Amino acid sequence: MTSLPLIPVDPDATGSRRAAMPPQHLADLDLAGRRALVSELGEPAFRAKQLSTHYFGRLVRDPEQMTDLPAATRAKLADRLLPRLLTPVRELACDDGATRKALWRLHDGSLVESVLMGYPDRVTVCISSQAGCGMACPFCATGQAGLTRNLSTAEIVDQAVYLAGVAASGAVAGSPPRLSHVVFMGMGEPLANYNRVLAAIRRLVSPAPEGLGLSQRHITVSTVGLVPAIRRLASEDLSVTLALSLHAPDDELRDELVPVNQRWKVSEVLDAAWDYAGRTGRRVSIEYAMIKDVNDQPWRADLLGRLLAGKLAHVNLIPLNPTPGSRWDASPKPVEREFVRRLRDAGVSTTVRDTRGREIDGACGQLAAAEDSDTVGAGETP
Ligand code: SAH
Repeated sequence: MTSLPLIPVDPDATGSRRAAMPPQHLADLDLAGRRALVSELGEPAFRAKQLSTHYFGRLVRDPEQMTDLPAATRAKLADRLLPRLLTPVRELACDDGATRKALWRLHDGSLVESVLMGYPDRVTVCISSQAGCGMACPFCATGQAGLTRNLSTAEIVDQAVYLAGVAASGAVAGSPPRLSHVVFMGMGEPLANYNRVLAAIRRLVSPAPEGLGLSQRHITVSTVGLVPAIRRLASEDLSVTLALSLHAPDDELRDELVPVNQRWKVSEVLDAAWDYAGRTGRRVSIEYAMIKDVNDQPWRADLLGRLLAGKLAHVNLIPLNPTPGSRWDASPKPVEREFVRRLRDAGVSTTVRDTRGREIDGACGQLAAAEDSDTVGAGETP
């Protein structure tokens, strides 16, 4: 990797073409903004709260079901505040229905994916913040295709609200019906679409009917390590969890695996992470994909252990998921175990992430939004 990736000064400027942005939706606005819009349309402001209650509180999006709104204005209000942003193209399920990947088409034809994961005690959605991604990590399928555009706030929020509705319908057997966790680990670099992602977080955590009412601590924002944006996030007075995709403890290798490291080095990104932990009190999650003979050597485990010892950090090792055309493999289990052992010996809390969604290309780094994928298996649902 020799060339510097393009890092915009304005984090929201990353390749976004304004013309391609979708129509405005109530999830783009806070409640006051929705009231103002409804008034502009000549309707009483309290209709904003009614619409919000349907969307965020009851997870209802069909205007016909909003019978507390006068039939004459329902269509007009729905048209302006609840335009359809996501058209489901395909849903794939695996893990006995506990993992579901949704492929959506956006208004301009862009494709994005989200993943719903049910556990005995919680339901998590993994959502996308951009169509494609500009960060070019060579082991990640999303990074290979490049960036198409930023998602709007409502396009981000709607993935969670839509899948919250799927969970509420009882589709995820053996899990609670209520969506509890959101991770920004789908397509895109959330901190490269900073303002919209921040607004989306505010919608996710605001109590209904303004938002979805999730706990801040149940939201995780994952980043390649855009240092100024991490510092900005630390100053937002939020307590969401930060995940840092580190993947190498040394600059030489990280320059290759996470090209943005050519701009912000391991020591700088870790400093920003500790600043985040210090200001929020939240343990930072260090993401580390285990790549055979690339980043899994015992000496790298020891170096990582030294960097993280005594810090408010937790290491999540991710067995490398297969991506098309990748020259890399996952580390063998004994190598992985030794890596874990060395980190734990250094006093660093470490777990190995499960590989949910692997067979439907729904696992970390596998989201590439190909409509004609031939990986459609027996788990496909219409
Ligand atoms: N751009 C953000 C959000 C994506 S999160 C970020 O990079 O943090 C997706 C996570 O999966 C990141 O930690 C990413 O590095 C990791 N990942 C990407 N490709 C992978 C692969 N093939 N196997 C395992 N993990 C992968």
